[in-house]
Amino acid sequence: MTKQPSIPISAETPSLAKKLGKEKATITTKKPIEKDYRKGKKSLYIEEKKGTSFDTCATIGNEYVCCNVKVLKSVTNCPFDCSYCFLQNYLTNGTMSAVGDTESLIEEVKQRLEEQPWRFFRIGTWELGDSLALEKDINQASELIMAFKNLPNAVLELKTKSDCVDTILDLDHGNKTVVSWSINPAKIINEQEHKTATLQKRLAAMKKVEDAGYPIGLHFDPMIYYPEWEADYHELIDQIFDTISPKSLAWVSVGSLRFNPEMKQKMALNFPKSYIHSQEMILGPDGKIRYVKPLRLNMYKSFMKKLNSYLDPQTVLYFCMERFDVWEKILGYSPRSIGHLDYIFADKMRIKYPEMVETMGSLEMYEAHQDS
Ligand code: SF4
Repeated sequence: MTKQPSIPISAETPSLAKKLGKEKATITTKKPIEKDYRKGKKSLYIEEKKGTSFDTCATIGNEYVCCNVKVLKSVTNCPFDCSYCFLQNYLTNGTMSAVGDTESLIEEVKQRLEEQPWRFFRIGTWELGDSLALEKDINQASELIMAFKNLPNAVLELKTKSDCVDTILDLDHGNKTVVSWSINPAKIINEQEHKTATLQKRLAAMKKVEDAGYPIGLHFDPMIYYPEWEADYHELIDQIFDTISPKSLAWVSVGSLRFNPEMKQKMALNFPKSYIHSQEMILGPDGKIRYVKPLRLNMYKSFMKKLNSYLDPQTVLYFCMERFDVWEKILGYSPRSIGHLDYIFADKMRIKYPEMVETMGSLEMYEAHQDS
């Protein structure tokens, strides 16, 4: 496993420090404010949950097909340093922090599940950081895995660019946690995803997680254009399926590079050697710029042809924040609504992992509640 450097840890209360075995941590009742998101990565603040942590993924919007995944804001900022990371433009306080009283997060999830017992919830902890990169210090994923095992109609998604899986391998997860990787060819990992685990290390971690029986998710997102993209993405697919079985996959998402226009300047400033923002991009109705549609279609077509030669039909394949007509052109169909895609997840997971989905709402219910 990649050795993560030890970082200074402070905690909001002595009991949070004690709970994590960090008795020597500094106690700082007020969260430190760090304007520089990079400096904020150099230490970790363990805090109590504040307000609401459960939410819908912030990118939801009706112009694009959204998967309607729910998020649990349990970590903020990340020890990695990807050139395209939206956190460099988003965080007003860059102090890297994690919720230490995991039981409060679980309580909030339980209340939310009780409000819609017919619904299958996918809940991720990655919206403002990486689900596993800090695990050796916070033990948060392990606590969530054990709690989700007993929650009805919900699956936890731990999405990472790390190889920090050793501490979760022996847990009795009950198929109620999907461990997923955001993954790119080695060239992109090495040049753009600074400080993350190498491709070889991510693949080795994937194999360990497969052997531990966890369902796996893959996110080919953001796909990045560069002269050798096609051969490299095809090779990546071969490398993955030389390592794990397609049957181990719960879901796979595909999406191209996109970001708010203000990010361009930030990326140029923070990553002067990066080339990824210099490709022609257009502004979409969601306020993000992305590659022009002919380029996106070209990339998806070639990528999907290769990926489809492996995929198990019960794996959910979806585009992240793409238009309905892009789905049609690449896959020959599209969900009719955001609620419909959410329903497809529930239906396929019910068949593939019966313990994940105990009760099944109707398509009409998913559509009627797609904004809640
Ligand atoms: S792993 Fe995710 S959260 Fe961390 S720096 Fe990269 S893009 Fe940002």
